[in-house]
Amino acid sequence: VRVLGIEGTAWAASAAVYDADRDDVVIESDAYQPESGGIHPREAAEHMHDAIPRVVERALEHARESHAGPATEPPIDAVAFSRGPGLGPCLRVVGTAARALSQALAVPLVGVNHMVAHLEIGRHTSGFDSPVCLNASGANAHLLAYRNGRYRVLGETMDTGVGNAIDKFTRHVGWSHPGGPKVEAAAEDGDYVDLPYVVKGMDFSFSGIMSAAKQAVDDGTPVEDVCYSLQENVFGMLTEVSERALSLTGSDELVLGGGVGQNARLREMLAEMCAQRGAEFHAPEPRFLRDNAGMIAVLGAKMYAAGDTLALEDSRVDPDFRPDQVPVSWRVDEPE
Ligand code: ATP
Repeated sequence: VRVLGIEGTAWAASAAVYDADRDDVVIESDAYQPESGGIHPREAAEHMHDAIPRVVERALEHARESHAGPATEPPIDAVAFSRGPGLGPCLRVVGTAARALSQALAVPLVGVNHMVAHLEIGRHTSGFDSPVCLNASGANAHLLAYRNGRYRVLGETMDTGVGNAIDKFTRHVGWSHPGGPKVEAAAEDGDYVDLPYVVKGMDFSFSGIMSAAKQAVDDGTPVEDVCYSLQENVFGMLTEVSERALSLTGSDELVLGGGVGQNARLREMLAEMCAQRGAEFHAPEPRFLRDNAGMIAVLGAKMYAAGDTLALEDSRVDPDFRPDQVPVSWRVDEPE
């Protein structure tokens, strides 16, 4: 089985082909880079318009090259696309492309939840059975765990996503988008200064710490110190709630998902916490952490195999698509 995945929820115009028989993923991506400021939804959608046909063509080229069947057969068995959550104008471009391809190639359409894909790629590459997942991405921050046919949201941000919070801080200090890698580099030379730390039960908030971080820089605190302390507090908060989620579910497996998961300090904190409680920790390779169509194709293949395809008339995108809205068709529940 081979599935074409298309991703375009925010900045990454991406297409991938997943060959389930060989467990092989080829990803073609084209990133939108804002000239100034953060991600502008209209510009990001224009980027999708321009780049999606290109990355899809390149991904299909790989599929055709490795396709053993007659040239008249489509080189893929299904088209999977990210239905949401994400920026509406971007999602609509991706939805239109996916519908057109599914019609043109006469193969089924599969609608994938982008957050569940961030989680499932970690489950896939780790081989863990039922992990807790920390999704640390740009526009989101969730703790998820599977129970009775759904991924349940055990905890989440009460305001912005973790990457967006960091990016707002770096815009304030005049650094170009994306800010996460720049904070990571600057933090290497920093010392700790006091910043807020906000965890409420299983939920957490970034707005207070970000305002305080901006203020600290304006007041003359060295930016390296603020970056170091930001990382320690924000990632400490995520580690604390991840530990609580492991304890609550009784799971001894944690996977990390999302673009912020590329940060070495976050991975170190999570790995250390897991080691201390005898749990296993897995972070997928970077190409599967940041937004990418590989994760869409891999989950798309599982959904396709479960018969979880979409009729054209039901294939609307959903900018607010929550992970717990997805009936998990591709996992078989063990009797309790
Ligand atoms: P979502 O998946 O929620 O729609 P998104 O589309 O914005 O989010 P991702 O690719 O998951 O995107 O994550 C992008 C974010 O990751 C950006 O905010 C960026 O600053 C952050 N990021 C990238 N590398 C690092 C790093 N090394 N450390 C911290 N943050 C990072």
